[in-house]
Amino acid sequence: MKSPKQTRFYELGKGDFLNFVDALIKKDLGRVIGVKARGNKFIFDGLDSAEELRLDQDVTVLPPKKYFLPATESMLRYRLKEFSVQEVFDATPLIIIGIHPYDLVALEQMDVVLKETNPDYHYLRRREQSILIGVNMQKVSSYAFAGSMGTATTDHGFDLMLTDLGDRYAIEVGSEKGQRLLENYANAPSASPETIAKVRSAETEILSKFERRINFSPKELPELLEKNYNNELWSEKAKKCLKCGSCNLVCPTCYCFDVQDVPDLNLKGGERVRKWDGCLLEDFAKVATGENFRSDMAGRYRHRFMRKGKYIHDKFGFIACVGCGRCSSACLPDIADPTDVFNSLKEAAA
Ligand code: SF4
Ligand code: SF4
Repeated sequence: MKSPKQTRFYELGKGDFLNFVDALIKKDLGRVIGVKARGNKFIFDGLDSAEELRLDQDVTVLPPKKYFLPATESMLRYRLKEFSVQEVFDATPLIIIGIHPYDLVALEQMDVVLKETNPDYHYLRRREQSILIGVNMQKVSSYAFAGSMGTATTDHGFDLMLTDLGDRYAIEVGSEKGQRLLENYANAPSASPETIAKVRSAETEILSKFERRINFSPKELPELLEKNYNNELWSEKAKKCLKCGSCNLVCPTCYCFDVQDVPDLNLKGGERVRKWDGCLLEDFAKVATGENFRSDMAGRYRHRFMRKGKYIHDKFGFIACVGCGRCSSACLPDIADPTDVFNSLKEAAA
């Protein structure tokens, strides 16, 4: 349970909330994105109407990172004859509605990583232009373990945070941007103490809904992984790996990309494009001279877990897994589940 803090809470009936979302769509504030149903899964997608919005998702197929670090994006265009280079920036303002707490934490982690050393202005400009409206979880994916990672709830990283209370939403304000949005486009009264108490108990109740968990403190992960660098588990599990990279691509904390120059057909110019890359893919560590610094599958398989539980922690101080469970859900041979790997290492060490 979070400690009490001074915060601003409002409440809106469900009908008024839909009117609020429709007002955001109609005003020229930028692109309004929300969670939509697609078959029996959920995705983030552009909203044409508030009626399309679903806030009862267990998890979305891809995290909202796809709007800040797109799967493919043009970074610049060049013309050879003129020796000209023109940067390409697409920073359409975004309002994204329905982000679960673990994905908000993941975006905060990406903010830290992508500001470091060589700031990624393509990403950072989009982030500055965005408004994030989170929602506390009502349902939990059977693959998720955010309850073990301290990411099932959050009191930061959002502009507004919704909690479904049946006939209405409680709305917690997390920033001045969020406060202004609410003041300008919704006539929301302050929440009663009873409403705030219901939010806090919903945040506590969600913790009991996770089927998967890490059976020890995540703080132990960096040391556990360091001691098990040569554990046979890596090669045993990696034997089944299909090298598809799906576990990387669906992950909200994976940010690796490849950059390629793509010439126009007339060879007079072209564009520089970046695309998502993943450390499980065979060519990930291949360099121009042909050497591949991580050509063995076991090394690549281990690297992903080392990144999540040790390397990023050593550099930035946080565990780079928020327990969304997307990797295990996407992995056909069922070898990507961090709880399985981490708990196995811990049990073997006991
Ligand atoms: S490693 Fe898996 S569970 Fe952890 S954040 Fe990435 S996709 Fe989610
Ligand atoms: S999703 Fe599974 S099979 Fe595909 S690269 Fe990741 S671990 Fe290997």
